[in-house]
Amino acid sequence: MQEAIRETAQSRLNEITAQMSAAAKLASRVPADITLIAVSKTRSIGEIEPLIRAGHQSYGENRIQEAQTKWPELKKLDAGIVLHLIGQLQSNKAAEAVSMFDVIHSLDRLSLATALGKAMRDQGRFLSCFIQVNIGAEPQKGGCAIEALPELLAATKAENIPVAGLMCLPPADIEPAPYFALLAELSARYGLDGLSMGMSGDYQTAIMLGATHIRVGSALFGERG
Ligand SMILES: *Cc1c(COP(=O)(O)O)cnc(C)c1O
Repeated sequence: MQEAIRETAQSRLNEITAQMSAAAKLASRVPADITLIAVSKTRSIGEIEPLIRAGHQSYGENRIQEAQTKWPELKKLDAGIVLHLIGQLQSNKAAEAVSMFDVIHSLDRLSLATALGKAMRDQGRFLSCFIQVNIGAEPQKGGCAIEALPELLAATKAENIPVAGLMCLPPADIEPAPYFALLAELSARYGLDGLSMGMSGDYQTAIMLGATHIRVGSALFGERG
């Protein structure tokens, strides 16, 4: 049984890696410049372990509490694991996030920049952060408004937070390419390098438009129950 799960995980990983390379090639990009974040939210330790054993090192979780129940144990399997926080973060959880994670993709407001800056100084751990942009200007979604980006970038600088780039979750059920292109344009405008964009259904498009980090869950682990 365990062996069967491992084979499935390995074959899905191989398939996605091949698709990533194909997309990179079409855009004259180097596959090594693109990180596949395996989004392991809602997945059990038993589902994640085979991927770690297959050598995959980057994982994404969206809830601190869930991550705390799984990753202290899973991290023991590979010292090179990089854990990404991809979900909304409350300012009062900043210290927990800084101690548990290695990269944060959801820095989206001034109050959070202040809280993260303080937590990073207190712990002496300066995590790379992506600024999440509300690229479709959707009222129900997290993310910094496009107009508010300069002020938030200035705040991260004042707090000595290393900014890796920009992150977005485009509106659902609509062609994502224009949103990915807009995020890439904003990133270039502000002289940033990283672009965290693209999920199971659209990561190839995202790669062709410059994604450096894709966040893939269901294509790797199967549909979430
Ligand atoms: C769940 C999630 C993903 C992965 O979604 P899939 O469609 O399962 O690949 C990516 N990014 C964020 C922010 C998520 O919450």
